[in-house]
Amino acid sequence: MKTIVYKTDTPAELHQAVEAAARLLRQGQLVAIPTETVYGLAANALDAQAVGAIFEAKGRPNDNPLIVHIADMEALPQVAARVPEKARLLMERFWPGPLTIILPRTPQVPDATTAGLDTVAVRMPSHPVAQAIIRLSGLPIAAPSANLSGSPSPTEVQHCIDDLTGRVPAIVDGGSCTFGVESTVITLAGEQPRLLRPGAVTLEEMQQLIGPIRVDPAVTQQLQAGAVAASPGMKYKHYSPKARVYLVRGSYQGFCSYVNALEGEGVYAMVFDGEQQGLQKPAFAYGAQQDHLRQAQELFRLLREFDHLGAREVYVRCPDADGVGLAVYNRLIRAAAFTFIDLD
Ligand code: AMP
Ligand code: MG
Repeated sequence: MKTIVYKTDTPAELHQAVEAAARLLRQGQLVAIPTETVYGLAANALDAQAVGAIFEAKGRPNDNPLIVHIADMEALPQVAARVPEKARLLMERFWPGPLTIILPRTPQVPDATTAGLDTVAVRMPSHPVAQAIIRLSGLPIAAPSANLSGSPSPTEVQHCIDDLTGRVPAIVDGGSCTFGVESTVITLAGEQPRLLRPGAVTLEEMQQLIGPIRVDPAVTQQLQAGAVAASPGMKYKHYSPKARVYLVRGSYQGFCSYVNALEGEGVYAMVFDGEQQGLQKPAFAYGAQQDHLRQAQELFRLLREFDHLGAREVYVRCPDADGVGLAVYNRLIRAAAFTFIDLD
């Protein structure tokens, strides 16, 4: 399959990209589109066959449900059967934006989209290109991250080109993604609100608005064998480069001593800004220790970069898990397959 990459730099390019993408979506085809979180692989959420093509193109396990994207509130009743009061409050405050809300679903949403669950994940993205494409298509749009399943999510168009050329008819270039990690996922389908995946909309911000929110154990821990995942995506090893990733807890001095003593080729470090001194291995900084937004933005790009460099092992300074840091921590523990190194 030939893959066309559409630019959106000039008004004429933008117009052409949006027209082409919306047309392909109405025809049941796939398009990689920019959003403010990561690039999404879009298809008509109400068309089981189109949704099936997403799973095939990504190599995604089909028990992992997709998020349905809408451009305005009028589209919500098509996919959500009921909107609890707390969900309404969250939408008013955080939509459009990087927040996905799990709600009871309507019968129109096919099982292929929800992986047979009786709930549906819904988000209204704020990215102007995503908004324009969804609005012009006139459809609710299913869109998981536009990467091959298991590899780091795409935060730049080149990542989509690397993963999906020949697998999709079109990729829309919207530049680098603002947040760089996937949306926050919260369920309001059960009795108590529960955070299923941390993102740029933080637990703290949401709790201020709607009161207590439980944090699903899968956010910070590996699921026990045999346990049922509340959010099926959380059970997979994820976001990972080919290198082995290790999360290192402890002081920077301890980190240097440990990493410097490692032997062999292909050892890399991922550190905080200003920390490369004293380290005798190649190191990349992913933001200041307190700058979680920056860390989120840099995370997946760096993980992909290690692959290009042929890294064998990557040692990462462990981020603090508060605010947006919880999202960074959540992605890194999966990239590291839950292996920590505790120093001092
Ligand atoms: P992605 O599309 O790759 O950003 O992943 C979507 C995330 O939302 C995955 O972790 C899914 O398991 C989760 N998800 C989607 N729909 C539901 C649902 N109905 N209930 C629980 N989790 C969901
Ligand atoms: Mg994904």
